Amino acid sequence: MALTLPAHPDPLADRLHASGLLPELAHGLGGPFHYLLPERFDANLAAFRTALTEADVEGRVYYAKKANKAAVFMDRCAAAGAGADVASLGELRDALGHGVRGEDLVVTGPAKTDQLLRVAARQGALIAVDALDELDRLLALGSERPVRVLLRRYPPTQPRSRFGLDDGQLHEALDRCAAAGDTVRMEGFSFHLSGYEVQPRADLAGELVELCLKARVLGLQADRVSIGGGFPVDYVRADDWHAFLAEQGPGHYHAQKAFAASDFYPYHFPVAGADALRAILAASPGGTGASLAERLRQAGVMLLLEPGRALLDRAGSSVFRIQGVKDRPGYGIVTVDGTSLSLSEQWFASEYLPEPVLLTEPGRDASGPYPACVGGASCLDSDLLTWRKIAFPTRPRPGDLLVYPNTAGYQMDSNESQFHELPLPSKVVIDHDGDRPRWRLDR
Ligand SMILES: *Cc1c(COP(=O)(O)O)cnc(C)c1O
Repeated sequence: MALTLPAHPDPLADRLHASGLLPELAHGLGGPFHYLLPERFDANLAAFRTALTEADVEGRVYYAKKANKAAVFMDRCAAAGAGADVASLGELRDALGHGVRGEDLVVTGPAKTDQLLRVAARQGALIAVDALDELDRLLALGSERPVRVLLRRYPPTQPRSRFGLDDGQLHEALDRCAAAGDTVRMEGFSFHLSGYEVQPRADLAGELVELCLKARVLGLQADRVSIGGGFPVDYVRADDWHAFLAEQGPGHYHAQKAFAASDFYPYHFPVAGADALRAILAASPGGTGASLAERLRQAGVMLLLEPGRALLDRAGSSVFRIQGVKDRPGYGIVTVDGTSLSLSEQWFASEYLPEPVLLTEPGRDASGPYPACVGGASCLDSDLLTWRKIAFPTRPRPGDLLVYPNTAGYQMDSNESQFHELPLPSKVVIDHDGDRPRWRLDR
């Protein structure tokens, strides 16, 4: 039986797909491209801010820039007065260049270079310190203004994490900050957990609120806690997802490829995005007593968050032109004009599961369902954008377009390269002027 995993209905995308603009862009750009919908980014950001306001919690949102390299999202951060989470000099430069203020940056990442630390300190950015030697290097910079730091907590529930300071190191770091006097402004603590669970985030945040109170005894400012990112995105419907996980097996894939259910990103998530923030704020750290929101208020601690993927939900899709279609017993192989490097999930021994949409020229009769996998335009046998045999409504033809939905978060550009000297896919920003989609290149 064919399993289907269409993305949630998206009227804005449907209208764009029906507008005739995408084939024009494919023609004009002469290769695959990504389209970006910045209004979605604005709406997602606003939803996070609303969740903070509703919970009566003072908070700041920092967009985790690594999730997408497009310039337009930095522009939107600057326009909305949001911050950005950057982890390299290049990302920092880009954020500043698009108008995000230095004081609205949080610099994360391990063992930051001296140059990154120096520029971040000069710009008044908040620096999440990941190790004691990094703190020492930062304090030794001789910055002309106090350096703003958060101390990143090693997550006790994720002992295999390579990030953060353990208990002993945290206390040592607090002592060093206290001894450094006016050289440093110790503003609080941070963590970033992998996975998407609510309770561990509330637990750790609650613990760090307590730690803020202890740090204040040492004369430190300690009035903010960053809970990092990891707000899930809900891509597909619950019943489709559960049926898929229960039934998928090698027969559903090209080359009888086997995936375990645990190999996949959780493409369905019942409580996602800003609702996940609501759930974290409503949860009681440690499982009992006052909610996290309440504890933040009582302690006068500001909540910082660094969503990446969740701010990009439905903010972009990837468009490929079909170059060829051939038959294999029982299914077909569609080859497109790009590579699986534009769908990063394919490089983690996994698969991007929300289904590509086939756009054919108007008026063509559907020939009936046609299952096919999707290969890239490279000479690697493993370069498949989709191993799964997708049940296309009709046999695709060369020139048709395939739109992979909701790819802005991490799929588009983290792994893209000019493999085979194929040009990198362009990024096209779609603005809506009333109902009319208008386009421009991202850079
Ligand atoms: C990657 C990362 C984020 C963003 O994570 P998402 O899952 O995209 O929300 C936030 N903070 C830090 C420190 C990160 O490394």
